[in-house]
Amino acid sequence: MTVTTIGIGSSIEGAYRSKFAGSEALWQRALKVTPSGISHDLRRITPFPVYVDHALGCRKWDVDGNELLDLGTGHGSLILGHGHPAIVRAVQEQAAKVTHPSAPTPLEVQWAENIARLVPCAEMTRFVLSGTEATMLAMRLARAHTMRDVIVRIRGHFHGWHDYAMVGYIAPYYLPGSNGVPNAVSSTMRIAPLHDLAAMEEALEPRDVAAVILEADGPMGGTVPVQPGFLQGVRELTERYGTLLIFDEVVTGFRMTPGGAQQYYGITPDLATYAKAVCGGIPGGAVAGKADVMSDIAFRDDPEWNRRRRVRHSGTFNANPITAAAGVVATTLLADGSVQDHCAAMADRLKAGMNAVLADAGVNGCAFGTRSTLRIITGDDLPPIHDPAEFTSVVSPQRLLDGTRQPLLSAIQCAQLVEGLDILGGTHFWTSLAMTEADIDEAVERFARAVDHVVREGYLKAVRT
Ligand code: PMP
Repeated sequence: MTVTTIGIGSSIEGAYRSKFAGSEALWQRALKVTPSGISHDLRRITPFPVYVDHALGCRKWDVDGNELLDLGTGHGSLILGHGHPAIVRAVQEQAAKVTHPSAPTPLEVQWAENIARLVPCAEMTRFVLSGTEATMLAMRLARAHTMRDVIVRIRGHFHGWHDYAMVGYIAPYYLPGSNGVPNAVSSTMRIAPLHDLAAMEEALEPRDVAAVILEADGPMGGTVPVQPGFLQGVRELTERYGTLLIFDEVVTGFRMTPGGAQQYYGITPDLATYAKAVCGGIPGGAVAGKADVMSDIAFRDDPEWNRRRRVRHSGTFNANPITAAAGVVATTLLADGSVQDHCAAMADRLKAGMNAVLADAGVNGCAFGTRSTLRIITGDDLPPIHDPAEFTSVVSPQRLLDGTRQPLLSAIQCAQLVEGLDILGGTHFWTSLAMTEADIDEAVERFARAVDHVVREGYLKAVRT
């Protein structure tokens, strides 16, 4: 049996193991048949992950019957909450009707029309199955359209797990984020430092860059908030150097506002990538963009074009009717902006509550984020600042990207789960339509008990002034 400990003599670990005994047994079985017992690196928890049985609204129940207030929110995809009745109905009805017609359905027409209505750059849309696929297709489109090979990406921004996206993702940035990425792939990626317009211009100057891809709200869901003027500056530079601009809106799309980050910041990219809210929490994704670029996927009555210039794209489950049915419902419910405003208001209440807990406990750290995408970092080395804007301007970008360090991260994540609160990876969280003010206040109370536990265990210092 593999035993991983989060700290010698930790009562948090003891409480965790006894509360989640059924999960530990499952994880022991999983370890034999799945690497690290998980299917997504971010779901790794030391000593073991919690296995979930079912969910509703903003709560989920594990295999031992424990109830958890779920701020993981489907990695941000469940802006409507777990089991939204309209999504459930659409999926159930569609499952009985047809799940794979080996043909297009009316649903995908409606879905693309909804996207075109809401998203400034979305003259045309092509459906894929994940955010990773979306950024891969967007990069191929940009390379084909400009007949240039290089893609500029910014350090720390996350674009999924394919080979190109792994280059320049985590420090040290000269090393791809994963083993197994060919040097030939790395040589087509140029890595720009965070939010530095002079460096961006230098990267574009050789005029060999097909596209700049970035998360408009800052790397890893706004972990380093974007500086005013940066997006405008990149838009101007890309236009000057004949380079396309891709916004990776996998998280921000339909969540920040109905038109996503591009509407929120008022900057229109050439292409944008989607995956989470656009499908109402059901697996899927999309690339949307200007018609002239998107039309590079279109067939023409010209064999030369079709064989040599066209961008090939397929995928057995693209726009599958179950996802499309959920996507139509989601993009309809998200159209007037009221859901996004509710989520942002709940996020503001949550941030304020958590920061008050940290301040009252006298521990260093801060909850921050834009609209309904949130992040929390704690650590004795951080400044005693609990105002999000001040905190993110004082702490270095790299320290923000590093996040909460071990063993504190495991301790606080387990303490939160013991108290009935789930924050993805211990650091990333989102609000949803299903959350009420009472739910938020309950989340804050559970968070306060978890902080108290890690302080009592000595993982965080309480410095009272
Ligand atoms: N881009 C961004 C900005 C993301 O946050 C994610 C996933 N969290 C992806 C791409 C990859 O999406 P997926 O996990 O669906 O492949």
